[in-house]
Amino acid sequence: MRSFPLFLKLEGRPVLLVGAGSAAAAKLRLLGSAGARVTVAEHTPSPEAFAAVELVFGATGNEADDRIVAERAHAAGKLVNIVDRPELSDFTMPAIVDRGEIVVAVSTHGASPVLAQRVRAAIESVLPPGLGRLAQFAQRFRTAIQARIGENAARRRFWDEVLGGPIAAAVLAGDEKRATRDLIRAVNRGEPKADTGRVSLVGAGPGDPELLTLRAARALREADVIVYDKLVDPAVLEYARRDARRIFVGKSKGDHTLPQAEINALLVAEAKAGRHVVRLKGGDPFVFGRGGEELDVLVAAGIRVDVVPGITAATGCAAYAGFPLTHRDHASSVVFVSGHSKDGLSDLDWRALANPRQTVVVYMGVSAAGEVAGKLIEAGLGAATPVAIVENGTHWDQRVIKGELQQAADLIRQHGVAGPALLVIGEVTRAAEAGVRAELKAVAE
Ligand code: SAH
Repeated sequence: MRSFPLFLKLEGRPVLLVGAGSAAAAKLRLLGSAGARVTVAEHTPSPEAFAAVELVFGATGNEADDRIVAERAHAAGKLVNIVDRPELSDFTMPAIVDRGEIVVAVSTHGASPVLAQRVRAAIESVLPPGLGRLAQFAQRFRTAIQARIGENAARRRFWDEVLGGPIAAAVLAGDEKRATRDLIRAVNRGEPKADTGRVSLVGAGPGDPELLTLRAARALREADVIVYDKLVDPAVLEYARRDARRIFVGKSKGDHTLPQAEINALLVAEAKAGRHVVRLKGGDPFVFGRGGEELDVLVAAGIRVDVVPGITAATGCAAYAGFPLTHRDHASSVVFVSGHSKDGLSDLDWRALANPRQTVVVYMGVSAAGEVAGKLIEAGLGAATPVAIVENGTHWDQRVIKGELQQAADLIRQHGVAGPALLVIGEVTRAAEAGVRAELKAVAE
């Protein structure tokens, strides 16, 4: 270890800061947030000023001046940090993740502040924002639990289960009342379990794993069981714990691997067995995802459920294909419809859909594309209205096929569209964002 990590209590302590630029201002802010008594000197002050403080920071931005600051600090026997000059510094400033009681500091020994920032961002993404509250919650009960559970190992186990389970989840979700009640029950029972089973309905986004939300990634890390669909990209499952059980219930059209009623029963059974189940769905669970049906069943069975939204195929595909869904010049509304011939098509109000200033996004519309186009044209929409078919949207192998409404079915046949695809109808699809396409191609390569 080339430097020794420690956390210094600066509250009320005298600190000297030399410098006047933006780097000095940033240090002043940071030192102020730690409660230090900071003396700021624009130019290097007399040796006495160094003797009067406990720590010295130099941020003059000028090497000769910085060197004098370091020398005077050392002559006075003080530790010094010079911004961006690790060779002149006794200590370096870490990149910081600040979650209240929890502070994580990252150091590269001054080798690369940018790398430290990247590590910090990675840590930040796995530490939920409510972590400081969780630490306060734990502190509030620390003495009481110590009195109740005398044995060290048992107490550590207790806290480990509390902090990794539904009680902590309740604190992070802002429900301290429930957490407190459950913690008291748990300690009275001598264990934090029971009533721990729950289901998270989680949107996995349309494909690209980077479109996962931070909350989805956390749910995946915490799950005991993951029940997932065909549309979920395998790369998304990498976010799960290695020992989590993965259950595939994928369905492709006409080939139901597991009927919905059995999926429902599976979710209920796993949650009742005390497990945290993540029901992972492509896109958003509440957009043509049967999330509503599963929610009803779970609530009726008395199981705790939370829903984590995901980026739905329409917004993902539009972004990655480079056209907007609304546009002040072309479309003032957007509708998502199901083109599934059995349960969708017959319900649709074609007259309302055939609006030239509206974007229509058809999910599950590949096989019914001809029928959809025919009905829209019959209802008055121009046969030459531009359309885009986006296949495997946001994946590395995304394809965007453009043409006219009257050709929709032919385009799908000619190009052999086989993956999940959206049919997007409307003027907005005309926008050809060359830059977006080039970027995407570069990513794929
Ligand atoms: N809940 C999902 C939709 C499920 S319905 C969501 O919010 O996106 C399944 C349909 O979604 C597919 O038939 C296809 O039309 C569309 N779809 C899902 N992922 C897609 C993708 N990556 N590219 C294009 N269409 C997709």
